[in-house]
Amino acid sequence: MAERAADEVLLDVSDILHATADSIHQDVDVSLGALAVGPTDFTPRGLVHVDVTLTNAGTAIVATGSVDATLTTTCVRCLGELDIPVHGELEGFYVGHGTEHDLPDEQDYEFIEGATVDIMPAIRSALIVELPFAPTHPAGCVAACPRCGEPQDECSCDRSSESPFSVLRDLFPEDRS
Ligand SMILES: [Zn+2]
Ligand SMILES: [Zn+2]
Repeated sequence: MAERAADEVLLDVSDILHATADSIHQDVDVSLGALAVGPTDFTPRGLVHVDVTLTNAGTAIVATGSVDATLTTTCVRCLGELDIPVHGELEGFYVGHGTEHDLPDEQDYEFIEGATVDIMPAIRSALIVELPFAPTHPAGCVAACPRCGEPQDECSCDRSSESPFSVLRDLFPEDRS
């Protein structure tokens, strides 16, 4: 049974909340739900490992670290299952309620709630930026037949009438002459 995916990953920062320049280190394994990139879902296989250092930078708690996961998705070429190992850089910036107005506009931030910060948004961002938009197996796999879905070297569909440009012709009918 897979563990229920977490909605948030709360870390206790009470030890550093009032101690500028102090930091704490945490290793956590997180049960994460599927990540969507465009039309593609990536589902973590097992737990996601997070190694994070939280530092009191004076006006904010800053999180830096790494996120390691294996994500399962569908290869867009052969439509088979595909595992992608991902190593992402984690970054988070957490401020107290009421202090966010002093931040530059371009600064992304989350709030410190009580004495905890939620690093889930940072974990998801760290992984999503590393994910391919159109995942394919690294070694050449056989493309699935667009008609029957079987590998093209195994099926017997007649695809001779299909040209890779037929889709474009349909999209731009006014170009036909
Ligand atoms: Zn493939
Ligand atoms: Zn076929």
